[in-house]
Amino acid sequence: MILQSTRDPRATASFAEAMTRNLAPDGGLYVPVTLPTFPDVDRLLSLPWEERCVEILVRLLGDEYGEDEIARVAREAFDFPVPVVPAGDTFALELFHGPSLAFKDFGARFLARMLGRDLTILTATSGDTGAAVARAFWKLPGIRVVVLYPKGRVSPLQERQFASLGDNVLALAVDGAFDDCQALAKVCFADTELSRDLGLTSANSINVARLLAQTLYFFEGVARIGRPPVIAVPSGNFGNLCAGLWAWRMGLPVRAFVAATNANRTVPDYLESGEYRARSSVATLSNAMDVGAPSNWERIAHLFGGDWQALRSTLRWGSLDDDGTRAAIRDLDARGYLADPHGAVACAVLERKLLPGETGLFLATAHPAKFKESLEPVLGREIPLPEALAELLDRPLLAEPLANDPEALKRRLRSAQSPR
Ligand SMILES: *Cc1c(COP(=O)(O)O)cnc(C)c1O
Repeated sequence: MILQSTRDPRATASFAEAMTRNLAPDGGLYVPVTLPTFPDVDRLLSLPWEERCVEILVRLLGDEYGEDEIARVAREAFDFPVPVVPAGDTFALELFHGPSLAFKDFGARFLARMLGRDLTILTATSGDTGAAVARAFWKLPGIRVVVLYPKGRVSPLQERQFASLGDNVLALAVDGAFDDCQALAKVCFADTELSRDLGLTSANSINVARLLAQTLYFFEGVARIGRPPVIAVPSGNFGNLCAGLWAWRMGLPVRAFVAATNANRTVPDYLESGEYRARSSVATLSNAMDVGAPSNWERIAHLFGGDWQALRSTLRWGSLDDDGTRAAIRDLDARGYLADPHGAVACAVLERKLLPGETGLFLATAHPAKFKESLEPVLGREIPLPEALAELLDRPLLAEPLANDPEALKRRLRSAQSPR
């Protein structure tokens, strides 16, 4: 697969190069120069999950990787169920049955197995990304993971998901905010000598490998529904919606996509007004979607050649504030489905945008128990923790404190044993 920067079509790269670099040298994001189209999509949809994943990935990446290697990676990375279950008047595509109980497992686990060895993954997290990345790379030979997080500002459960693992995962509790963690990481990536010596990589959510992996479950959702659905995507950085649109361009039969946001309305406002205005984020119940300047929107705009009208004719959109989210959680619960705040936003916006006779499918991106602190007061009952999370609470925290000082971080990175 040949990729190009969203900013300069001449800045091309192979998949392996784009994956290692994350960002294109001109600051743009990597997108495929062309996406393959699948005229035999009906046959693809009839295949079992694993077999279909392998076949699609071979068509995308077969020019750079052997089929055996792709098959091994796909089998290891996507070895958990991806069910579709009824929820209200729609269906939920549950993407939270992987090890960190959120959809970011798909992209992170795939990337971890494609990247290779002799690397240090340095990632700053406000919670969820750190969990998915740390779990994805945990115990992989030749790879070290360093997670920077704001001390005292992530939930106890989230903290345990990356700071109790040990082995090749080092968690550093930074005396500062999430923005400080990001700034620290940035200083290290900018230090070319350090980057080279440690094989420093960020594995962050703009990595094109993560998006390609995310196209796969859109095929699974449509396969299980059996007719072209309207698909609602709970969106923050808009990577998930971008992956869905790529799947659609490859030939996946989808009636329409619904971009669903919380009170962070940058994209819905743009689709309504034609004026794109990034802004600071506001805190909501669906905190993984608290993004005011969505990094992947650049990819979606590029896919549509920046044509606002074309975007408006393909997408439907809507947003839900926290009161609406609480009401949606209660309402869905009364109809027999326990949704996390992110899924609840998608489902409620979907139900508003669905026309008579259409089938709706929304992405359920996180396990409800991950958000038990916000769900319990809304529902007035206790949400049981699944085994995988309950177990974590008994594990000791292995995090080390770190001063908000780039030199301290560099010293720590160099002192720890490198995988080489
Ligand atoms: C990251 C995340 C989202 C938002 O996905 P984007 O690809 O950033 O739009 C939604 N829900 C959950 C639970 C997440 O962790």
